[in-house]
Amino acid sequence: MSTKSPEEIIKIHSGKDLSKIWLSSPHMGGNEQKYVSDAFTSNWIAPLGPHVNGFEEDLASFTGVSHAAALSSGTGALHLGLLLLDVGPGDIVLCQSLTFSASANPIIYQGATPVFIDSEMDTWNMDPEALEEAIISIQKIPIQTNSGLSSKIKAIVPVHLYGMPAKMNEIKAISNKYGIPVLEDAAEALGSVYNGKACGSLGDMGVLSFNGNKIITTSGGGALISDDKEKIEKARFYATQSRDPAPHYQHSHLGFNYRMSNILAGIGRGQMEVLPERVNQRRGNFKRYQQYFDKWQASAGLFNFHFGFQNEPEGSYSNRWLTCITIDPQANNGLSREVMRLALEAENIEARPLWKPMHLQPYFKNYPYYGGNTAENLFDSGLCLPSGSNLSPLDFKRIFESLDTIISDFATK
Ligand SMILES: *Cc1c(COP(=O)(O)O)cnc(C)c1O
Repeated sequence: MSTKSPEEIIKIHSGKDLSKIWLSSPHMGGNEQKYVSDAFTSNWIAPLGPHVNGFEEDLASFTGVSHAAALSSGTGALHLGLLLLDVGPGDIVLCQSLTFSASANPIIYQGATPVFIDSEMDTWNMDPEALEEAIISIQKIPIQTNSGLSSKIKAIVPVHLYGMPAKMNEIKAISNKYGIPVLEDAAEALGSVYNGKACGSLGDMGVLSFNGNKIITTSGGGALISDDKEKIEKARFYATQSRDPAPHYQHSHLGFNYRMSNILAGIGRGQMEVLPERVNQRRGNFKRYQQYFDKWQASAGLFNFHFGFQNEPEGSYSNRWLTCITIDPQANNGLSREVMRLALEAENIEARPLWKPMHLQPYFKNYPYYGGNTAENLFDSGLCLPSGSNLSPLDFKRIFESLDTIISDFATK
């Protein structure tokens, strides 16, 4: 057991002037500027234009869906997805708890009530058993919503965390059994595949994000994708202030300003050209980390370290957007994810705990939750490691040397 406190570890490691290694930073392919400059040349500086159409076609053909609406954010896409599923006050939406808050916030925007669902240990995503338990329980005993007691469950929001496909066969079987549509949060999973189908194309509608740290980026942006033409056309309509066809501004629906600009769509078109390469690079990162940590585990008799990874089940192919490990201090001589994070931070290397589950967030803690402690345990023990597709061999050398120092501090010889 190491006797060093996190503060002491920081003291030992700090004081060096090293450039920052980010968790996941933008990585341009080269043609983005050409598309952007084309937008300038043609003066298509608007929230519509040829790049928006082109980017939508690229997204649809890549994911194998018939229709895509390019939007200003993944959050906006989730919001419109819920709106299109007719989610409103008095309705309930079942949402994965272990996720970024953007999966849950739009449920509140629509005045509906989120009910949070635990994760399973394989993929860290929505546990199908806890999902069905929630449905059965709510159908039997209505829950309190902001419009009184209700058992109207209108949508299921599973997430493919860090790119790993959720157990969609099981989730879709439950969706079919109870007639509740799936809005698939694939914000982190562009390029991931489940049983031969792209993530984002598995639910009734899918959400993508192109925020700055995602596998490809338009600096900010998102998309709603589906085979349902009517829904995607409606999404475009709502996203441009719900303008009715008329010479004047006429509105028979509430509108939103959620469309993607033609300039950002130009960045997106350039990024789509390198997406397959980015997936390979991220998967390469995962492999490097796996081999690195395996080395520590292989010397088990000596050190007794154990690190956990997100499993990639048969039939699943993760884009490995972020490589994450779990570290149980009790199984690792007291080494915790927080000690590791602080030691890396002292070396100017960014690592981050997993998403804090929504049912533990101060804002959401009073909403119902179904399941056990899996999401909470993953949060307590999980750490996201630097995973950019632009990490250099030198960056990895620095990361592994820092990890060597911190892990060997905790090794029992
Ligand atoms: C990034 C992200 C979103 C939101 O996307 P934005 O484009 O940032 O609005 C939603 N869900 C998950 C799981 C995400 O990681």
